[in-house]
Amino acid sequence: MAYQALYRAWRPQRFSEIAGQRHITRTLVNAVDSGRIAHAYLFSGPRGTGKTTTAKVLAKAVNCAERDGAEPCNRCPNCTATNNGVSVDVLEIDAASNRGIDEIRELREQVRYRPASAPYKVFIVDEVHMLTGEAFNALLKTLEEPPQHVIFILATTEAHKVPLTILSRCQRFEFRRISNEEIIERLDEIIQSGSLSVDDGVPELITRVSEGSLRDALSVLDQASALGGDRITMDDLYAILGTVGQDTMETLARLLDANDAAGALRLLHEVENSKDLRLFAREFSDYLRGRLFATLDGRTNPKLDQDRVLRLLSLFAKAEQEMRFASRLSLPLELAIVRFVRGDDDLETRVADLEQRLAKLEERPGTAPPESVVGEVQVRISAPPPNVLQTTPAQETQPSGELPVASERDRRTVQEPVSAAQAVDFDAVCRRWPEVLASCKRQQYLKRTRLLALNGMTLVVSCADPFTLNVFERPENLAALDEALHRVLGVKWRIKCVRDNAPGEP
Ligand SMILES: [Zn+2]
Repeated sequence: MAYQALYRAWRPQRFSEIAGQRHITRTLVNAVDSGRIAHAYLFSGPRGTGKTTTAKVLAKAVNCAERDGAEPCNRCPNCTATNNGVSVDVLEIDAASNRGIDEIRELREQVRYRPASAPYKVFIVDEVHMLTGEAFNALLKTLEEPPQHVIFILATTEAHKVPLTILSRCQRFEFRRISNEEIIERLDEIIQSGSLSVDDGVPELITRVSEGSLRDALSVLDQASALGGDRITMDDLYAILGTVGQDTMETLARLLDANDAAGALRLLHEVENSKDLRLFAREFSDYLRGRLFATLDGRTNPKLDQDRVLRLLSLFAKAEQEMRFASRLSLPLELAIVRFVRGDDDLETRVADLEQRLAKLEERPGTAPPESVVGEVQVRISAPPPNVLQTTPAQETQPSGELPVASERDRRTVQEPVSAAQAVDFDAVCRRWPEVLASCKRQQYLKRTRLLALNGMTLVVSCADPFTLNVFERPENLAALDEALHRVLGVKWRIKCVRDNAPGEP
């Protein structure tokens, strides 16, 4: 008898055997039990999570002659024909290789014929998102008026590529990644019944690399048993997976702990020569995670302290991502190692933090053109700022004096860029306004004005009466304030005065 791959041999034949999708099988069992079968289903979710398997069990359940509750008997002619892939009433179509309009037309022809020996004709369309637009349109026509005897089960890993018009005609089920516990349970079951013997840790490692896909897990187990015979060792598994053992990861962690960058890089290059670096990066991140959780639990007395494990973990997680786009796979890992040993990642974090704070400072003055000042003033008048002339004490020292001085022409331009050194914000102006006043030769008139806003390079003040406004706007007074601002704050700003109560232009 020909060898049958494990995932075929162990393909669940009943709803109760389907792993990890209880939320779906329970609903389907109820539907079959109560005879409320929909005409179109959409099964979506990651690969290897049981979509096609569930579709087949459902197809058998609706056609079984000797159903046991909602479960197919797997003995009657309809069930056995479906199990053997020879049923004329259960048709599987792979949309990845039959994606055109002609194939869907052919399918529509088939839909018209009544089932040969079963109550329903079931069409299972795998990877349905691969259909062309034309083909989807043709399929939609069938879904709009399905004959009573037809059931469509569409399966896809990428539901977002399926047109809404199709989705809205289907009863939709979202398949989940299968949990590690469920995969390990299934592997143990197969190992025990298949009289295989395995090293400790084999099911766990297979589970980790298969990322929630039971099909992938079974296929690795399959390969391992083909290589190792009745006894599967961890070394067999490392060879198949192209990954390294725990001891290599412990060595790497030890080297990093000792800040031995050269040693760590040497080890990395040894791994690179014989193993899959991507998988290695993932395994090392998993190893670090395990270590981090162990320190959180207080289960271990780690050599690497928690902060260092955290740093290392974030560096390697980042490297793992960068590897997707790297032309040389080892480079992101090399950088992670060197950065960790040099402590560069701390520096990066600090620089990023500073950049963020600087960006916030730059946002405060804004870069809006002066035309918007009036609007801004109106807003601010409804919620007046504190009268800084009387309440704010002078504090702080003189600025460093390195602030740039804009020329007269610069000041007239509408949108001056706010440079980093120019980052004196409105709060700072309010705080130091008394100093500006004290420094200003003609300060009498200023006492009847209020600070309103700093709008880009324009400082806006307001006053309540037209007389003050007139005085304020005299060139010699503007120049005096200008000088005082420059002396105290080191800035060259445009100054604008508006009427407190006048909504329009002053
Ligand atoms: Zn049956």
